[in-house]
Amino acid sequence: MQIRRNSYPAEAELPPCPFRHEPAACLQRHGFYERYATPEGNEKRRIPRFLCVLSGRTLSVLPANFLPYRPIGVEAVQDDFDARCDPEQQELGGLPREKDPPDGAIVQGSLRRAWQRFSQTDRLQSLLAHFGQRLPLLRSACQLWRSLRQQVGSLEAMLLELATAGRSLLKDYRCLSPN
Ligand SMILES: [Zn+2]
Repeated sequence: MQIRRNSYPAEAELPPCPFRHEPAACLQRHGFYERYATPEGNEKRRIPRFLCVLSGRTLSVLPANFLPYRPIGVEAVQDDFDARCDPEQQELGGLPREKDPPDGAIVQGSLRRAWQRFSQTDRLQSLLAHFGQRLPLLRSACQLWRSLRQQVGSLEAMLLELATAGRSLLKDYRCLSPN
């Protein structure tokens, strides 16, 4: 399974065992795998892996600025969604501001797909199921995004909280839950 690096103290050398073994002496370092850090695929980052010797299951620890299974940065997604849901921008058709050249077509395509995913009904339902009591009645993906920003804060904070319930922003992955 996969946990987020910011779900346990920065100074801790080993994560807590997500399979609830106490004390967590069951975890051993277990190599790493590489993941692209950007949609262009020109930068890789090592994702450390751990093995729980009691259960035989492996655990990977995702950096706080990574989305599960999507090679696009948390900050880029947050900025893009903010821009899409900026009321002034919406009057202009809901498109994000033109970005400077470093964000090329590949990045824009990834961001657009992330937004399309976020806008789907199953995401709305899942996110409302988790954050529901803190959110007002919502009619659109932008209302949902703006409410999440107000009530939960940064996308990093949303991902961290969702991961504790085996959920994420764009999809709920079984591997985010120890059960
Ligand atoms: Zn364990």
